[in-house]
Amino acid sequence: MEEIVGEILISKEEELFFKENILNLKSLSLLFTKNIDQDITYLIKILMVGAVLLKSSDIHIEREEEKTIIRIRMDGMLTLVTEIENERYLKILSRIKLLSRLKLNVDKEAQDGRFSIKFEDNEIEIRVSSLPSEYGEAIVMRILNPKSLISLEELGLRTDLEKLFNNEIEKPNGMIIVTGPTGSGKTTTLYAFLKKISKPENKVITIEDPIEYHLEGITQTQVDEKKGYSFASGLRSIVRQDPDTILVGEIRDKETAQIAIQAALTGHLVLSTLHTNDAISTISRLESLGEIASNIIPAVNIIIAQRLIRKLCPKCSSLRNITNEEKEMFKKELPFVDTSKLTKLPIEVGCEHCNNTGYKGRVGIFEAFVLDNELKNFILSSPSRIGLKEKAIQKGMTLIKQDGLLKVLKKETTLEEIKRVAG
Ligand SMILES: [Zn+2]
Repeated sequence: MEEIVGEILISKEEELFFKENILNLKSLSLLFTKNIDQDITYLIKILMVGAVLLKSSDIHIEREEEKTIIRIRMDGMLTLVTEIENERYLKILSRIKLLSRLKLNVDKEAQDGRFSIKFEDNEIEIRVSSLPSEYGEAIVMRILNPKSLISLEELGLRTDLEKLFNNEIEKPNGMIIVTGPTGSGKTTTLYAFLKKISKPENKVITIEDPIEYHLEGITQTQVDEKKGYSFASGLRSIVRQDPDTILVGEIRDKETAQIAIQAALTGHLVLSTLHTNDAISTISRLESLGEIASNIIPAVNIIIAQRLIRKLCPKCSSLRNITNEEKEMFKKELPFVDTSKLTKLPIEVGCEHCNNTGYKGRVGIFEAFVLDNELKNFILSSPSRIGLKEKAIQKGMTLIKQDGLLKVLKKETTLEEIKRVAG
C-alpha cells in the first residue's frame, strides 16, 4: 500500500468498516488486540480512527518497564485501551515518528510534529509530541477534529446566557474575556463566538499560539517568537489592518494587555482568554500584569468563566434519593430556586453506549460578569474581592457552581460531577 509521510489516508470502505466495528471502547480494544500482529500501518489506523470515532481528544502511549500502555482521553478522562508488548511499541513508535516527521535517531529530547488523517469528507490534524521517559519515549497525540467545533447554541448555555452572549458578540467594541484553567473549554467557546461573528461584512483577524482549528472567512495568524511575531507585536500589526473583531489567544504580558485594551477602546471587538479561576479574579489578574484598573475597566464588556462537565448518558441514567445535607446545600446555593419538593437526584449507571462510565459528552458551566456602568464605577471605588462578588451577584450573576447545580436539577448531570469539577 502506498504510504506518504505526513498523512494517513482512510478510504471510504475502511471508514465504513471501522464505523461498523468500533462502537465503543471495548470494540476498539478488541479490534486492536486482534490485529496486534498485523501490519503496523493498519494497527495505527485502527487506533487513530478508533480514537476519532470515539470522540477522544488525545491518545497516550507510555512505555513502562514490562509493557506499554495505550490510553485515550474521552470527555476529559483518560481510559485504558490496551496494553502491548514493548517490542510492538518500538515498531509503533518509529512509524509514528516517521509519519509526523520527528527525528528517528533522537530519543533523549522532546520533539514535536504533526500529521493528518484524511477521510473522504474530513481532514483531521494530529499534533504529536514525544518525551524521553524512564523506559523509552512517551507519545501523546492530540486530535484536532474540525467537526468537534460547535456552535454557540451547542455550548450548553442557559437561555438567559445564550441571549446575553449573542448580544455581547454583536457589540462593535470592547473586550470579551473568557477565563478558566487549561482544558476548561475556553477555546471552544471563543471559536463558537467567531463562527457566529464571521460574516462577509465583518473582518476578523486572530493571533493564536498555536492555531488550533482553521475557520473559513477569517484571517488567522500564529505566534512565532523566533521570527519576532509575538502576541504584542502581532497584535500591533493586526490593529493596522483595520479589523472589526480581533481574537487574541491569550493575554500573558503587560504589553499585550495594553494593546488589547487600546484596541477595544478604539472601535474593535476584542476576544481573549486569561488563566483565572473565576470571573471576578480577572480584574486583579490584569492588574497584576501591570495595568491599572482605571485603564482596564472602561474597555471590558463581559468576563466569562467556565468549566466543562460530563453529561449523563441518555441511555442509562437513574435516580437516587437526596440526603438532608444535599437538600440544605441546594437551598443555600440556589436561593432563587424552590427546591423544597426535591426528593431525587440523577445518578450515573453505565452501559455499552457510554463505555460504562454513565456519562456521554460534555457541556460548559458558566458564570458571566457583565460590566455595566454601575459595576464599572463600583470597581473604580476599589472594592474588596468579596464586596465586588456580592455586588455582581446582587446584579444577577450566577456562579459556575450554581449553573452546574441548575444542570443537576434539569437531570443533565450529577451532583458528584459538579462537586468534582466546581468544588
Ligand atoms: Zn450509558
